[in-house]
Amino acid sequence: MKSLSERDQKHLWHPLTQHQTAAPPLAIVKARGALLFDKEGKAYIDGIASWYTAIYGHCNPHVTDAIARQMQELDFVMFSGFTHEPAIELSERLMQVLPENQAKIFFNDNGSTAVEAAIKMALQYYHNKGERRDTLIAFEDGFHGDTFGAMSASGLSSYNGPFEDFLLKVERIPIPQPDTMDEVLEQLERILNHNPCATFVFEPLVQGAAGMKFHDAQGLDLLIQKCHEHDVLCIADEIMTGFGKTGKNFAVDYLTHKPDIICLSKALTAGMFPLSITSCSQKVFDAFLSDEVTKGFFHAHTFSAHPLGCAAAIAGLDLLQSDEIVERRIAIGKHHQDFVTQVKNHKKVKEARTIGVILAIDLAVETNRYGKLRDELYRFFMDRGVNLRPLGNTVYVLPPYVITEAQLQKIYATILEALDHF
Ligand SMILES: *Cc1c(COP(=O)(O)O)cnc(C)c1O
Repeated sequence: MKSLSERDQKHLWHPLTQHQTAAPPLAIVKARGALLFDKEGKAYIDGIASWYTAIYGHCNPHVTDAIARQMQELDFVMFSGFTHEPAIELSERLMQVLPENQAKIFFNDNGSTAVEAAIKMALQYYHNKGERRDTLIAFEDGFHGDTFGAMSASGLSSYNGPFEDFLLKVERIPIPQPDTMDEVLEQLERILNHNPCATFVFEPLVQGAAGMKFHDAQGLDLLIQKCHEHDVLCIADEIMTGFGKTGKNFAVDYLTHKPDIICLSKALTAGMFPLSITSCSQKVFDAFLSDEVTKGFFHAHTFSAHPLGCAAAIAGLDLLQSDEIVERRIAIGKHHQDFVTQVKNHKKVKEARTIGVILAIDLAVETNRYGKLRDELYRFFMDRGVNLRPLGNTVYVLPPYVITEAQLQKIYATILEALDHF
């Protein structure tokens, strides 16, 4: 009989994959807590929580039970003309944790579409007011997803090269650091003065796909303040950072100036269901109220506010705020800090940094984003039962909060072994 990997090769086309050269993917048959299992029963520690989604652990019973219960009552109903309790309750629960200026929740079904809706909201906000504003502002090397609006805001050209001629108008600024802040502010001011800017889209504090690059909260605060002085709407893409990864519930909790629009997905449903939200302030929502039907927001995805996803998200919020998970988040953060202290002077380490449960180590070796080193590192870790997906020469760890002490120590030990090996 053919293996799953062999059957996979016949009809499947995988994301982010050059099929001519890529190794066949590994079939995973089961997942529990921080572990993934292949068919032979070999376990892999999910050191990146399956792209930052499964933060309460795989198959967490509190979440699977909530989904199972919901499935018996209401599987799905369209969200246009209908509503349901899971969506209502989720909106109420999110309002308790989101910044105070957030007032409305719009549902989508994945991260890219959350950003797409946010950008469309910002563009139509000015259109409804009779103003034409067509320029986005975004950070260099940001990542916001793979639909056209989201791609436009993204600066990682290895993803977007073939589409560059078809994207929205965007002006880019570097991420703010204490020593470059004045320059970045000046650059932003010039852009704001010379372009009809609609919105500033950013990943707050940590740029995930860029290689877990950190920037300065105070600096970001100043950029948001400057945008607000020019009446430009600010969109925080918290799809990676949301739900406790930076230490606080959301990265924008570190800011004084709050974004007008926030995008959430990935860990929103505890990693169990594709669902996303775009939240916004009352001011944004009010710009769509009119006697003219066409001033409404005519954007929809079939599976908007899917009840199973909402049930998973509500269960996820229970866990996020539970004593057990809060304690684990703090403990992981402390271990990361100790590990940074341990490796930062290692001769193979260019920089090691951590915030919350995110740990990133830039190796002192030159490579490009999808270079050979990355593949070799990936194999090295997987051979030792650890799933880490380095980005270029950056090895990062973003474990499920339920990871055990022993599993976390195994990840660190394997990284140390890799530092000596490469
Ligand atoms: C993953 C991600 C997205 C895109 O989400 P998808 O669900 O993959 O479309 C957008 N922004 C950030 C910051 C992300 O990490």
